[in-house]
Amino acid sequence: MEYFPIFMRLTGEPCLLVGGGEVAVRKARLLLSAGARLTVVAPDLVPELTELAARGEISHVAACFAPQQVGGQRLVVAATNLREVNRLVSQTAQAQGIPVNVVDDPELSSYITPAIVDRSPLVIAISTGGGVPVLARLMRARLESLIPAGFGRLARFASRFRDRVKQRFTDVEQRRAFWESVLEGPLAERVMNGDESTAESELLQRLAAGDSTPAGAVYLVGAGPGNPDLLTFRALRLMQQADVVLYDSLVAPELLELVRRDAERIFVGKQRANHSMAQEDINRLMLRLAQQGRRVLRLKGGDPFTFGRGGEEIELLAQQHIPFEVVPGITSASGAAAYAGIPLTHRDHAQSVVFVTGHKKDGSIQLDWPALTRPDQTVVVYMGLAMAAEICAAFIAHGKPADTPAAVVHSATTERQRTLVGTLQTLPAQLAASGIGSPALIIVGEVVSLSSRLGWFRRVEDAAVTIGQDS
Ligand code: SAH
Repeated sequence: MEYFPIFMRLTGEPCLLVGGGEVAVRKARLLLSAGARLTVVAPDLVPELTELAARGEISHVAACFAPQQVGGQRLVVAATNLREVNRLVSQTAQAQGIPVNVVDDPELSSYITPAIVDRSPLVIAISTGGGVPVLARLMRARLESLIPAGFGRLARFASRFRDRVKQRFTDVEQRRAFWESVLEGPLAERVMNGDESTAESELLQRLAAGDSTPAGAVYLVGAGPGNPDLLTFRALRLMQQADVVLYDSLVAPELLELVRRDAERIFVGKQRANHSMAQEDINRLMLRLAQQGRRVLRLKGGDPFTFGRGGEEIELLAQQHIPFEVVPGITSASGAAAYAGIPLTHRDHAQSVVFVTGHKKDGSIQLDWPALTRPDQTVVVYMGLAMAAEICAAFIAHGKPADTPAAVVHSATTERQRTLVGTLQTLPAQLAASGIGSPALIIVGEVVSLSSRLGWFRRVEDAAVTIGQDS
């Protein structure tokens, strides 16, 4: 380790910043956020620094750097673009044993500044020893995405109870178990969602009961249409915390790989007309697992509340007072639309969009056809593949022109995506010839015609190509 990492208390301490340009602004902001009493030495200041000086947040010495300014400082930063001045600042400070940093010049610096992820009081500092600052910044970007925005709030919340928890659990192991169950459980999610008062009463209850066992919870998480990059930060985080995961065939295999490695995986596969586990059994299984104190992740394709039976899955949990949370996901219609180049609305083609399911509990299709065949409207049919021919025919029978553009998008957003584009008239034959299976959406409306221009992801198989090839 070439540099020794420390966190230094600067609240109220005198610090010197030499330089009045844009780089100095960045440094000034950082030092001020740590509470430093900052003096800025520079003949001229950029407007932002002038403003800080006017508000009394910094003292400005309107002059060139002079060595006597260094005396008594706790920390010195040189941020001028004159190497000679920077060198003089550095030498003067080092001669007096005062830590000095020259921006972007490790050679002249006695300390270097890390890239920072700030979730105060949680702060992560990253350094590559000054060698590859870009790498440190890339690392930082990754961590930023992994650490929830509410983490600072959680850290502040937890520190308020530190002493009380210490008193209640004198055994170190028990104390650790308690904090782990709090910081990785439903209580922490509550705090990060901004509901601190409920979280506080739950925590106090558990403290009073001396309960250090983990609290069970169910997370109903939308995993998006299949491409792992389209997960939300929250979904990914919960996937990496879960003790047990319930998933079905709509969850793409590449998504399942992101679940915590030692989590138990339970396939509750549901396929149309071939339910391998009844919905009631899934509901009861989730309840039982949560009652055992496990963090249960119910991973759903797309969005849990869009044709995902999400509402049914949490009803029993709500009844039994099991903590649960619903995390939205990108619904497959949005995924398919973006990746196939089919805007769902468009000022020239569609003023509204309707999501319908082509399949009812009893297997029939009963749709509000007069509403669906309105002009200037996009219709997206979920679970409609098996009935595609009937659906296309019904659109036509109810007055939609037979040459209305229509598409099927299979496994949208994944590398298996296939897009068939044709019309209400041609689509059934194209589908039959293509051998495309589930999961797939049918999209009907003028907007489909834009896919030949706006489609950017994989090949769009239009009517001419597919029919010409396969029949
Ligand atoms: N909750 C899910 C929908 C579940 S219903 C969502 O919000 O997307 C199941 C239907 O969703 C499938 O029959 C299919 O029509 C559609 N679907 C799900 N993922 C898909 C994908 N990657 N590509 C195309 N259609 C998909």
